[in-house]
Amino acid sequence: MKINFILNNEELKIDIDPQFPTLRFLREEKGLTSVKTGCGEGECGACTVILGSLDNGVLNYKNVASCILPAGELNGKHLVTLEGINGPELSPVQKAFVDEGAIQCGFCTPGFIMSITGFLLSDRDITMENILNSIDGNICRCTGYYSIKRAAEKILKIVGTGIDNKDRISSLAGLSAIPDYFTEIPERLKGLTGSPDMDSESTAKENTLYIGGGTDLLVSGSGKPNPDVRFISDIKNISDIFEDNNFIHVGAGSTVEDIIDSEILNKYFPGISDFMYLISSQIIRNTATLGGNIVNASPIGDLSVLFLVLDPVLEIKSGDGIREVLFKEFFKDYKVMDLEPGELILKIKIPVYPGKRFFNFEKVSRRKYLDIASCNSASCFYLEGDVIKKCDLSAGGVAPVPLYMKESSAWLTGKEVSKEIMNKVIEIVMDEISPISDVRGSSDYKRELLRRLIKAHFIKLNGWLK
Ligand SMILES: Cc1cc2nc3c(=O)[nH]c(=O)nc-3n(C[C@H](O)[C@H](O)[C@H](O)COP(=O)(O)OP(=O)(O)OC[C@H]3O[C@@H](n4cnc5c(N)ncnc54)[C@H](O)[C@@H]3O)c2cc1C
Repeated sequence: MKINFILNNEELKIDIDPQFPTLRFLREEKGLTSVKTGCGEGECGACTVILGSLDNGVLNYKNVASCILPAGELNGKHLVTLEGINGPELSPVQKAFVDEGAIQCGFCTPGFIMSITGFLLSDRDITMENILNSIDGNICRCTGYYSIKRAAEKILKIVGTGIDNKDRISSLAGLSAIPDYFTEIPERLKGLTGSPDMDSESTAKENTLYIGGGTDLLVSGSGKPNPDVRFISDIKNISDIFEDNNFIHVGAGSTVEDIIDSEILNKYFPGISDFMYLISSQIIRNTATLGGNIVNASPIGDLSVLFLVLDPVLEIKSGDGIREVLFKEFFKDYKVMDLEPGELILKIKIPVYPGKRFFNFEKVSRRKYLDIASCNSASCFYLEGDVIKKCDLSAGGVAPVPLYMKESSAWLTGKEVSKEIMNKVIEIVMDEISPISDVRGSSDYKRELLRRLIKAHFIKLNGWLK
């Protein structure tokens, strides 16, 4: 695939396998060794780079893991490594790390600097919480993190107060946090030949491979060669989230961070952002898409389990037409879905029902953050007083698929919320699931986990009703 992009301050036109990991391209072909090879699976952050793209004429930057970033994704974009932000003096971010002793062996340091600089370049408010979120996927094995936290506080003081949010790039350049050439990037990106804007109508073939973030496909370099690779980020409007005619439309290309930022989703489903922070780390959340999570079909896929209880319809591009499938009926068996080769998920459409709505998501993993679930579960209740008018329950890690709990959900409808119905529905839930013993726990352990997660839904529901 021929791609045209800007690497640091240099425009490149190259021919490359679109699934080739960006990390390997940077180190092996460009000699940019600030980008470190760590885990190779997006877990450690040592390979973090910044990716900038023009979206509707606005330049957006985000920090991403280059080890699982497919090279084809660079087309039409600005890729930045530490070499691309180095100037004659240390940047305020680099200086804060040095001053606070936030560097020991130094292996992870470029990744931390890139995550924080990428965050400063984004449009998020500069707060301590947001700086720390930006490095939640960067692991350091020697500093103990306190010195890194002190460096973050210093950055907040120096950059946070000196920044003009209306023109962040010029402002950051003025503070020497990035070199001056960044101010010319928007114009330079417009001039690139390779910024395709594909219609979803572009004919797909049976063997077409769609790539969202590649965070599933590229783990351990498992992307199989394919002559017809298409990038979801090149498809028009596929990342839009909007409200229309009593439906919330969530584009399949929306990333986990897009969901965190969505005012509409946060308005209707308060707490959804907090649940999203339980998914991986920002360098993954910045690229991992909803469509990729669904089609990955992992029985513990957090987004699938969460969205199952919102009662949505999937809109799927199939040949020349569009078909709709109830999400509850989409998963058939382990990794078997109602999706034919070459079909593209465009969006999910969530109906907005009237009435009082309670929504909750629970996840248990070996550690709270940065881990996949042993068991997860979501619930959505519509209530009139204490009476359940509609209920949807789901669970992950207890069946071959992300499981919509049909029997339990139906049984709860029409009941009044009480301890008794909680205990009774747990019995029904236990009959609906079929967990197996694996590395994440024995089948009995997973039953016990889900029992507790269902209780957690009811305890929170009860607190919310009071
Ligand atoms: C370090 C790390 C941590 C992770 N943590 C979590 C976690 O906490 N919770 C969790 O649920 N997952 C986690 N994952 C798994 C993964 O990141 C998510 O499942 C993610 O949402 C996959 O999306 P993607 O866009 O990267 O998928 P991709 O890798 O791009 O694609 C996955 C599959 O979906 C297909 N596809 C993508 N989009 C479409 C579409 N619109 N239509 C049709 N087919 C499509 C692709 O062809 C491919 O077969 C983690 C992964 C990593 C590497």
